[in-house]
Amino acid sequence: MNYNHALFLNPYIESSATSTMMLFPPTGLEYVATSAEGLAGKITLLDLRQEKELSEPDKLLAFINSNKVDIICVSIGWDRQFEEICQLLNRMPEGIPLVVGGYKATEKVNELFNLCPKIKIIVRGEGEETIREILKGLPLENILGISYRQGAEIRHNPNRPFPDVDSLACPDRSLRRNEYTLELNGIDVANLSFDSILSARGCPFDCKFCTFSLNPLGQKRNYAARSVDSVINEIKSIKAKVILFSDDNLFANPKRAEEICDLIIKYKIKKRFIAQARIEIAKYPTLLEKMVKAGFKALLIGIESPHDWILEQLNKGFNQETIRKSFAVLTK
Ligand code: SF4
Repeated sequence: MNYNHALFLNPYIESSATSTMMLFPPTGLEYVATSAEGLAGKITLLDLRQEKELSEPDKLLAFINSNKVDIICVSIGWDRQFEEICQLLNRMPEGIPLVVGGYKATEKVNELFNLCPKIKIIVRGEGEETIREILKGLPLENILGISYRQGAEIRHNPNRPFPDVDSLACPDRSLRRNEYTLELNGIDVANLSFDSILSARGCPFDCKFCTFSLNPLGQKRNYAARSVDSVINEIKSIKAKVILFSDDNLFANPKRAEEICDLIIKYKIKKRFIAQARIEIAKYPTLLEKMVKAGFKALLIGIESPHDWILEQLNKGFNQETIRKSFAVLTK
């Protein structure tokens, strides 16, 4: 093995324990850390939002040194705290490869290399397969989807094709050092443990403003759904009582969504589910009934605007009248 101890770091720090940003497990980083299993002697996943003792750089550095970490992989998913994260990256120890990935890292490749001289590799796009090749020690010039430092130069390899979603292992939750609980505005909602699941990647719609369905390389992530069985097996393995489907739209394929509900009911899985949806779901009364039986408690629906001219500009695919009709169904 090339590495004895790989650290996967979610570098965000929340000053308020009541921030909704505390709620969500770092799913992308968890996918990548899980994919790295077996390729480093030890894997540690640190979510700094939950690691108050390690949130000061000196303490994090001491952790890295005392645990003999020999590769550090950091996920940068958002614009927020970008400066602070760059400062943290500049404090990382010399001589340990620093690999950065995530949505914002993909968007800001050159900027990050300029701001953070210690970054050796930036993984662009989806990183599960790429991290495996990095840990196996493949020559960097042969690894698709990375940009890397070669002396004073920055080299950009071609993009990596999207992986088959069913070939990816779902997040190994035993890597977590903490639990996630559902808190709303600081109120612990009956101490409900919380988790999220990604049953599909991409979205078949083309709303003009949307950055979710396009990655920063301009690639459209074609809608790719996992098999229903793999989704149900993952749900069965989750201990949390509340599960959010973090798919852009769980109901992009209504028949598949119905199959998921059927199996949740069949296996008597007792959870509360939250999902993101589009208003078209109102056209499927049988699906809605099954969702209620399966334990769906909340839908997050993007309306974006009450004005037809804006909806048209955004290419949302519906207008005010459709919104009213859909909510007449949904509120029942
Ligand atoms: S439906 Fe949602 S995720 Fe899909 S393109 Fe539109 S805004 Fe983006």
